[in-house]
Amino acid sequence: MPEPRGRMFFANPGPTNIPDSVLHACARASIDFNDNAFFAVYEQCVAGVKRVLRTKADVFFYTASGHGAWEASMLNLFSKGDVLLVIETGHFSESWAKMGRALGLTIESVAADWRRGVDIAAVEAALRADTTHRIKAVCAVHNETAAGTMLPIPAVRAAMDAAAHPALLLADTISSLGSLPFEMDAWGIDVMVGGSQKGLMLPTGFSFNGVSAKAMEAHKHATLPRHYFDWSEMLTRRHKSFIGTVPTTLFYGLQEALRLIEEEGLENVWARHTRLARAVRAAVNHWAGNGGGVELFCQNADRASDSVTAIMLPDGHNADAVRATCRNQFNVSLGAGLNKLAGKVFRIGHLGDLNEPMILGTLASVEMALKINNVPHRAGGVGAAMDAL
Ligand code: PLP
Repeated sequence: MPEPRGRMFFANPGPTNIPDSVLHACARASIDFNDNAFFAVYEQCVAGVKRVLRTKADVFFYTASGHGAWEASMLNLFSKGDVLLVIETGHFSESWAKMGRALGLTIESVAADWRRGVDIAAVEAALRADTTHRIKAVCAVHNETAAGTMLPIPAVRAAMDAAAHPALLLADTISSLGSLPFEMDAWGIDVMVGGSQKGLMLPTGFSFNGVSAKAMEAHKHATLPRHYFDWSEMLTRRHKSFIGTVPTTLFYGLQEALRLIEEEGLENVWARHTRLARAVRAAVNHWAGNGGGVELFCQNADRASDSVTAIMLPDGHNADAVRATCRNQFNVSLGAGLNKLAGKVFRIGHLGDLNEPMILGTLASVEMALKINNVPHRAGGVGAAMDAL
């Protein structure tokens, strides 16, 4: 089958659309990463990332996708057998927990319905029950990309404080950073996990951890084996990061991406994501009509994600068929269902470099694909999205 014509509408929840100016900024000849001309750009980028994270903490970068920063957060903080409390959100909380087990950590979890999100009182109860403070850290995925749900990190922090528990708070902000409000310092986050290819609008290729002073103290006592990800080792380097070659071209792209974010204003970026997300949810709720057809996977309006929406199909219908129609006939790329949601949901990513016509075009294509695949829905979702906008 020939490739469909026209520019692809890329509605995946990461990687995301890369603005042309960022692509052009990445198109640079190689430069020695110790060259002063690059080092100046690098330092500007580190300062800019800290502004987006809303932190004054150290930030360590790795040439790795988000999994690298996940692994770095564990290797640098813990010792064999340490207990971590992972808040269940969906596929990505499960994957982080699986990584912890593979690294020799003991994982306990606060179970949750993926469609409704965790009961914060259950997090507090688990911490209160831990009277001997075995739990070394609480791991929270701020935005569960697989379920299209958002976990309110300030509420998690409040639960930890209410239980007077000294555990570290680790927050994965891979699909929320630069899209949803995120405040590393004000929210009392000890370690954040981020990546290049979502809200920062860059190619996949680096990830990073912001690390609080409390976490740096814990790091001194951690004994899991590490080398490439070792924060202490990094602090001895000129870049205070990267045990290896720095991906210079990505930093030229990052410089431009940060310029775009700051030109728009970070709060305005967040507001744009909220506005576009509401339009997507209005369309899906319209399609859902009185029930029996497609519906939002997230059943808790307070926890709906403003960067990705998962849409569930009724039994007997295949979400991957809808995705295939969108991709093959309309050149619209949607995210697949992951883990136990494979084939049951598809996902519309609405984060990064995105505007109203891109969302409306995507929704129109999805509605056509629902019709082509005979998936029950109430026609007219795009109008509902327009009204919401
Ligand atoms: N955490 C979340 C919330 C994610 O969405 C992803 C990837 O989509 C990851 C972790 C893993 O990151 P990566 O695929 O960049 O390794």
